[in-house]
Amino acid sequence: MSLKKREDARSGKAFAEAKEIIPGGVNSPVRAFKSVGLTPLFMERGAGSRVYDIDGNEFIDYIGSWGPLIMGHSHPEVVEAIKRTAETGTSYGAPTELETLMAKLVIERVPSIEMVRMVNSGTEATMSALRLARGYTKRSKIVKFEGCYHGHADSLLIKAGSGVATLGLPDSPGVPDSVAMNTITVPYNDLESIQLAFEKFGEEIAAVIVEPVAGNMGVVPPRPGFLQGLRDLTTQYGSLLIFDEVMTGFRVGKHSAQGLYGITPDLTCLGKVIGGGLPVGAYGGKKEIMEQIAPSGPIYQAGTLSGNPLAMAAGYTTLRLLGEPGVYEELERKAARLEEGFLRNARELGIASTINRVGSMICPFFTDVEVVDYETAKTSDLQRFNRYFAALLDEGVSIAPSQFEGMFVSAAHSDEDIELTIQAHHEALKQLGS
Ligand code: PMP
Repeated sequence: MSLKKREDARSGKAFAEAKEIIPGGVNSPVRAFKSVGLTPLFMERGAGSRVYDIDGNEFIDYIGSWGPLIMGHSHPEVVEAIKRTAETGTSYGAPTELETLMAKLVIERVPSIEMVRMVNSGTEATMSALRLARGYTKRSKIVKFEGCYHGHADSLLIKAGSGVATLGLPDSPGVPDSVAMNTITVPYNDLESIQLAFEKFGEEIAAVIVEPVAGNMGVVPPRPGFLQGLRDLTTQYGSLLIFDEVMTGFRVGKHSAQGLYGITPDLTCLGKVIGGGLPVGAYGGKKEIMEQIAPSGPIYQAGTLSGNPLAMAAGYTTLRLLGEPGVYEELERKAARLEEGFLRNARELGIASTINRVGSMICPFFTDVEVVDYETAKTSDLQRFNRYFAALLDEGVSIAPSQFEGMFVSAAHSDEDIELTIQAHHEALKQLGS
């Protein structure tokens, strides 16, 4: 934990240089710290629960590469597996037995998956699953939820509608209206709205895609009955239910969110944890549906580096480590302790706070409204969040630079880390005033 004044001169210089030749100075937008108005930290290394930037600052890290690093940074067994694999070859563009081992492990852990295809990112997983759903059902429209993020494929980058079901408007220049008009958006946790959407467009809906625990508007758990309601509606109308478990997969439990809530989707998208810090995504589901993918079926999807040996080695090792007894119980215990500490601090200092948590995904909002969807998530005081974020960094704790992201507790966080984080949170809240 850094107690000295945080330096950022070297990061500032590196950022200025990067901005000249990389759009916004970063290879993924939120990394630029734009909304919090600070200089992004340029990283030098990570070890366990800690990251170290190029200015020599040390942080207890709750970003964990935005979710993948559930075993912590540079876990020795993951690093060893990557090294060992690299020594024999980095990529062949030919099948390896490791890919089958990986597929077996995924299928064993997530029972709704009978067949699985590896890709290189979460975006590829959701994009491919949608193509498959459309090809399989021979329908065009999809339903997504306001505030859920499923990667940056055209049909999923759609501005959320409000209230009752609305047809989408593109969220970004470059997404054609003709694509957007096939995306219906409805509020998260609102079964009535999606029921109306199905009454209106039911025969045209190929799939409903949902984050079973939303993690891209902060953390928002599904209300009791919400996921079951989606399962019932999609079954009734012959649409597919796609769980986007890119974030929740192997994160919220050994059998992912679908295991936690006991719901069986038709297709599941995976990413993040499944790659153990290397670029991996996957989509899988019922055999009958998955067999429609090329070369066994007509729906095309491919990838030069898909099933890459290094990525498979890192992912397989991570999943294996997660299969050891007690890992998820420990994650739950530590995250619960963090939640309790945060609540205690907020109460003591009289700061409005709602804390949502599912397993090791946790998010404090600066509001006293119950956060159940994007509208309620937006009641959080964002100015306050920005000041809190900066104060936490100065206290040596790194979280995502946005209110609309969760914190990820990893197996590498020690009880001492949790205690130090609760103290840092207290200090940061104190600086905000009530
Ligand atoms: N789906 C969800 C639920 C995600 O959280 C993300 C990334 N945050 C994606 C899809 C996209 O994954 P990637 O960034 O690997 O393309």
